Parts: sequence; structure tokens; C-alpha cells
Amino acid sequence: MHSKLPEHAQVVIIGGGIVGCSVAYHLTKIGWTDVLLLERKELGSGTTWAAAGLLTQLRQNQEMTNLAKYTLECYSGLEAETGMATGFRQTGSVAVCQTKDRRKEMLRAAAMARAFDIDLNEISLKEAEDLVPGMSTKDLLTAFYNPNDGFTNPIETTQALARGAKVGGAQIFENIKVTGIQLEKAAVCGVHTDKGDVQCETVVNCAGMWGRQIGQMVNVSIPLHAAEHMHAVTLPIKGLKKHFPTVRDFDGVTYFKSESDGILLGGFEAISKPWGMKGIPDNFMFRELQEDWDQFETFMNCGLKRFPALETAQIRHLSVVPESFTPDCAFMVGEAPGVKNFFVGCGMNSVGIQSAAGVGRALAHWIDRGYPEEQLWPVDVRRYFPWQQNAKYLYDRTVEAVGMLYHHHYPNRQRTSARPVICSPIHDRLADHGAVFSQAAGWERADWFAPKGVEPVHQYNWDRPNWFEHQKKEHLAVRDGVGLYDLTSMGKLMIQGRDSEAVLQHLCANNIDVVPGQIVYTPVLNKNGGYEIDVTITRFSEDTFFIVTSGATVVHDFDYLKRRIPSYANAVITDVTHAYTMLAIMGPQSRDLLHALTDADLSNEAFPYSTAQEIDVAYARPWALRMSYVGELGWELYIPTMFTTAVFDAIVAEGRALGLKLIGMQAVNSLRLETGYRHWESDITPDDTPYEAGLSFGVKLDKGDFIGRSALLRQKELGIHKRLVMFTLENSDAMLFGSEPIYRNGQWMNNTTSGSYGFVVARPIAMGYVKNREVITDEWILDGDYEIEVQGKHTPAKVYIHKPYDPKNQRARM
Ligand SMILES: Cc1cc2nc3c(=O)[nH]c(=O)nc-3n(C[C@H](O)[C@H](O)[C@H](O)COP(=O)(O)OP(=O)(O)OC[C@H]3O[C@@H](n4cnc5c(N)ncnc54)[C@H](O)[C@@H]3O)c2cc1C
Repeated sequence: MHSKLPEHAQVVIIGGGIVGCSVAYHLTKIGWTDVLLLERKELGSGTTWAAAGLLTQLRQNQEMTNLAKYTLECYSGLEAETGMATGFRQTGSVAVCQTKDRRKEMLRAAAMARAFDIDLNEISLKEAEDLVPGMSTKDLLTAFYNPNDGFTNPIETTQALARGAKVGGAQIFENIKVTGIQLEKAAVCGVHTDKGDVQCETVVNCAGMWGRQIGQMVNVSIPLHAAEHMHAVTLPIKGLKKHFPTVRDFDGVTYFKSESDGILLGGFEAISKPWGMKGIPDNFMFRELQEDWDQFETFMNCGLKRFPALETAQIRHLSVVPESFTPDCAFMVGEAPGVKNFFVGCGMNSVGIQSAAGVGRALAHWIDRGYPEEQLWPVDVRRYFPWQQNAKYLYDRTVEAVGMLYHHHYPNRQRTSARPVICSPIHDRLADHGAVFSQAAGWERADWFAPKGVEPVHQYNWDRPNWFEHQKKEHLAVRDGVGLYDLTSMGKLMIQGRDSEAVLQHLCANNIDVVPGQIVYTPVLNKNGGYEIDVTITRFSEDTFFIVTSGATVVHDFDYLKRRIPSYANAVITDVTHAYTMLAIMGPQSRDLLHALTDADLSNEAFPYSTAQEIDVAYARPWALRMSYVGELGWELYIPTMFTTAVFDAIVAEGRALGLKLIGMQAVNSLRLETGYRHWESDITPDDTPYEAGLSFGVKLDKGDFIGRSALLRQKELGIHKRLVMFTLENSDAMLFGSEPIYRNGQWMNNTTSGSYGFVVARPIAMGYVKNREVITDEWILDGDYEIEVQGKHTPAKVYIHKPYDPKNQRARM
């Protein structure tokens, strides 16, 4: 360790757990030498030292899998590189299934794994027993094996990363506590410590379960909460294979690892014990909490079933140590919203060892380049909202969060804890109509409507869910008649000031120089031409622009846009999400319905598609935007919040004569997919350009310069190598949810980006990118034979360059 704290460092990393050491290591790997890591006690003394050290490559999504996969690669070479033992060993892993649904989930996972070159295959129970002598498979249905998973020694690996970082030039100090962070003009400029101040340009918060407190130093929301996490180790047990593959019994919520000729067993209980509500004691280091054998009983019960030898084995030690968990059970990476150069790598949800190298590398590249090198949205810190640091919310959600790791990851599975948080003003009215709610970005949204006599609850599975028939009726009502949905959760931003148009012209790929009342669909691109933001912008007046974005991305989008408004520009951005609700009236009869509520002329001539007007509706005066996310004639009403219940009641009363149907989010999703509308995050990401996504109509290359223009010009000249297309499954009742492998002429191409059921085309439906080494052409796309793998079966699929429903986009313009 170094002895004298420097007065300046380019970057200060707070926290010397495995994540902090990995960030230091990876920064030095790309040439940063002026790196200072400060640890309040000793390296690894927070949570890292206590980990079981299991490493698995496959995670719940592509982004986290990439990080975990790289972590294994990194650890495999660390000992040779640094000369320090790491305890890394590739023993393989066996995941066992007790139920049919678990097998379905694992088959999906195995299919997804192949896309990442991860070797995960179904094996017979006999093979599982041979791999893990002593394991009972009596009650099991099947098992899956990955030969490359393994484990590492967490504390030794942390020390090796620290050694690697020091060799690369980083300075590491123990027993120095960061007590504050200095900002200047909302940018990091230094840290205060209990041993003096250090000036710096960048701070990385790797403080594990202390991360929320570090965030509060600069008023940034880091929503994490500690919870007790435990495992027990037995004395040696005869008959076990030394270093047997790690075993995961998801249905029994328990994992097993070979440990000193005995077994280490731990897991993720459904009802966990949040810890540290009154703050984490200052002297906390290498500390265990009170043993809780009652809480451990779940794991022991599963253990006795899986390894009968545990009946007589002696437990050497039960270790209970706190670890941090987040509301959606995924960790946080990236530059925090609102503060320049304040980076975050914490909230590891018990996968910090198996993710640390990936997280460290991702952060190092982000710090170095100023933007992420890879798609990271599911773990991006900007997916969280300021309200999510609320202590009661975090406590209540954490009770459920731990168990989320091993529970069934059914499509659309809802959290049940810490709800409701945000309700639209008509929430109770929707409930009275039978709404079954789902939660998105904290908002309670009607997911589907249960008719009288139908129990209003989600029943999940991997096939058709219990809401399928109700969703179908809602879907068809929008196609044939008229439907009303509440999408108040949409993010709404306002940019105002005389330079607003110029600012937006530079940021947006479409032409924003339009007359007031015009709506523009536009991407906001990065310099590679990839989608950072996907929005519609309505010019309310000469100097006021109204931006509608997804509810989930509003913090990200606000931060992204605000950072790019030049300080000299007369333009301010405001988040007005809560000032307006949004009720959408959609379907061929929407004009008739709205006509009964307003004197405004709704004809095509007076109120064309893609325009907006402030009109009277009932006793209110909302902005009516003639656009559609579901591909039908319709209006989105942006209503000043306090007028909403009255407007809703009036619409419902007038709608009775027309058979108005209330529509939930499940139907909105199947409608948008059937009509080919893309969703940012799944179908379009920072790695995809508008040309690749088939959205060139949103780009105006001749309007002047904008961010991403040169990349698009290049791509236009050279051609594209991937293209978003649509698929329907022929002759199949299988359900598509996204992430299913796509094959062209028998060869894996990619995975679907989203999936649902198209109730008019009467087939399962999906989107996904096809790729080609050569420039991709429509002929090449149409020339292939396609299949989509569903639960292990290759199912013939039909490809569409445009979309199967309303290919000419005429219905919204009726
Ligand atoms: C029982 C158990 C089993 C586990 N098993 C596994 C497993 O098998 N696989 C896996 O991947 N993960 C596992 N984990 C999770 C894993 O241990 C954590 O995700 C990981 O260690 C988190 O690392 P970290 O660097 O984020 O946090 P920490 O290790 O807690 O490091 C944060 C550091 O920040 C320091 N710090 C805080 N505040 C300040 C300040 N103001 N100034 C300076 N320093 C500060 C702390 O002292 C601490 O050392 C397990 C956890 C437990 C408890």
C-alpha cells in the first residue's frame, strides 16, 4: 500500500471490494495510470470476503451475460498474469429441474446461451449423477450442464486484481474513508476523506452496500438496500467428488458447491431479511451477522433432498453476511444522471464476483470514452428514478428481491412488494372495470381487464397465459371498433426557449423545423448513428417543444438531452411527466367517439395525421395528438392531470353506444408489434441505426448537420449488414416473448428482439435482426428459409421485410 495520500488523481475509486479493484485494474489496462482507490477498512472486507465465489456465464439477458462471460475469461488468466493465486477453477455447473415449467425456462436459457457461444445442454439424470456423485435425482425431471462455469476465491481474486492495478500504476490506500464529494457546476472536482482532500476529475462509487450513502453525498439516487445472505459449510463428507460441478436447484432455491471435501450450500429465499435500516455501523468489516437457523431451514430442506449425506454431515459454519440488493435485482453501472463524471458500479445482488470483471471493464471504457462501449441498458444506473431511494420502498422491495434470483422468470412476471407507488388519477376507476395491474417505472398500469366472473390475477406460464383470450378481445376491439387506454406513465419532457429549435436540430436526426402543431417522429443518435433516444416531438409553439418518450427511459432521456444543451443556448428542459395524463382513443371508430365529446373538426383535412391541437374535450382542454402506437386511427389526449377523471368519465359515457373497450398494456404491446412499431431497449438500441432498424423515414440527411449524420452517410454509401425484420410462426400455437434464436437456412442468425401474438394475423409474431457478411438486400432476406427455436423446437417462420399487418401504414391515416 502507498503511504502518502496524493493531492490529486485523475480518478478516485471509492471502495476496495472486488468491483472497485476491478475498475482500477481495467482502467490501468487501457492506459490510465493516475488512478487512486480508497478503501475505508481493508480490501475485500465489506461483502466480497464472504462470497461463495460461484461463477456462471449465463444471466437473464444478453448484457449481463456478456459481462459475466468476460469475467470468467479475465479470472482464468489472472493468476498467470499477476503471480497471485486466485483459486479460480472451471468445474462446470449442473442446473437441475424439478418441474416442467423449470425445464421450459432452462430450454429457453440453453437456446439463448448458444447465441453467446455458451455451452449449456440438457443431460440425462444418469449423466447428472455421474457428474455429481452423491447427488440424488429421484425427484427430478431433468438437468442441464455447462462445462465452463466454475468458481474462484473472492478475496484472492480481489487481491490479484489490486496487484494487477498497482502494476499498471494505480495507487491503493486502505483505512481511508471518503466523507464527501466536491462538485463544481454539477461536475465532480474532488473528494473529502478522513485523511485529507483529493482533487480529481472523476469519482467511481464502488462502495457496495454503502453505495446509497455515497450517492446521497451528491444527491444521486442509488436505490439499493442490504439484506442478509447466508451459506453453510459442512465438514468433509465421504463419497463426494473433489471439486464437483456447482449444482443449482432453482426450484429448491438452493445452490451447492464443493468446499474442502464437504459441501457449501446457500441460496435465495422467497422472503428475505433486509438489514442495515438504521445505517451500516462504521466499524463494519469482515463481519458476520447473527446465525438464523430458521431462515436457513429452506436451504437445508432442499439440501437433504439433493444430497442425502447431509442427514449425517456436520455443519462446520453458518455464515450470514449482508449483501446489497436493488428493486429490479440487477446491478448499477454507468455515469449517474445529473452529475458529470460521477460513475457507479454497485448494488451487485449477489452476483458481484461473477460480474466484477465485466463491470470493471465496462466502467473503464465508459470513463475513458465518455460513453458506454457496449449496450448496458438493463444495468444502466439511469433506469432508476430519484423516488426509488425512498427507504421504505427499498426495505419492502428487498424482502422480495433476494428470492427473485432463483424464482421462475416467467414473461411479464410482476413484483408483488412495495406497490402501489405511482397511480394514475383514474386508477380506481380502471380497477372497478376489472383492471389487473402491472408495474412499469413505478406506475401501476392496467395490464388487461378481467371481465365479470374472471378472477383478476396474473397466472403465469411459458405458454398461453390466463389473460390471452381477454387480451385478444381488447386487441380486436382496437382493430375493429374503438378502445381506450391509459398511458399516463409515458415520459413527457418540454424544451422551451428561443434556441430550442436549433438545439433539437443538432440532436435529432429528423427535421424539427416544422410549423407549430406538427408532430415529428425522430431518433436521437450517438456518433455511430445508433439509437440513444426514440421519441415523438410536437411543436406546441414557436419556442416550445413537447417530447413524449417511454416512462422507463425518462431519467435517461432527460439527462442525455440536458447534458447536450449548450450553456450559451436559450433553452431549458423540464420533466413534465406528472403534469399531464395520457388517454388514448384508438380504432376505426375513434373519430366518432371523440366527435361526440368535442366541437373541434376532426376530419383529415382539418386535423391530419401527425398533427396536434389543443381542443375542448368534455370540460377540459387537452392537447390532442393525432398519432398512434397501435397502428389505427386515433388520438392521444394529453390532459392537465386534475381534469383527467372527468374526461375519462365523459369518454366512457359516450363510448357505451359505440362499444368502447378498455385496453390494457398486454394488448397495446401485441397491437404495436403486429403493426411493426419498434420499442427502444429491445428492438432499437445504441447499437442499431435507423437504416438497420428499417426506420429511414425518421432521418433527414439534407437538413444540415446533426449528431450521427456522418455515420449514417457512410452507412448509406456502403450499405448495411443487418436488418430488423418481422416473423410469424406458421402453424404453431407456441408463444414468443423475445430472445428466441432465429435460424436462416439452418444457421443461427440472431435472437428475436421482442415477441407476442398477432391476433389479426392469428399467429405468434416477433421482430429480430438478420445479419449477413455481405451487404444485406431484400432479395437475400426473402430468399432464406427461417425457423425460430421455441422451447428447444425449431419452428418454421415466415419473414416480412415490412410487417404482416397494414404494410402500407394506411389505417392510422384513415
Ligand atoms: C454469503 C454470500 C455469498 C455470496 N456468493 C456469491 C457468489 O457465489 N458469486 C457471486 O458472484 N457473488 C456472491 N456474493 C455476492 C458478492 O460477494 C458481492 O456481490 C460482491 O462482493 C460485491 O462487491 P463490491 O465490491 O460491490 O462490494 P464490497 O465488497 O462490499 O466492497 C465495497 C467496499 O467499499 C468500501 N467503502 C464503503 N464506503 C466507503 C467510503 N466512504 N470510503 C471508502 N471505502 C468505502 C467498503 O469498506 C467495502 O470494502 C455473495 C455474497 C454473500 C454475502
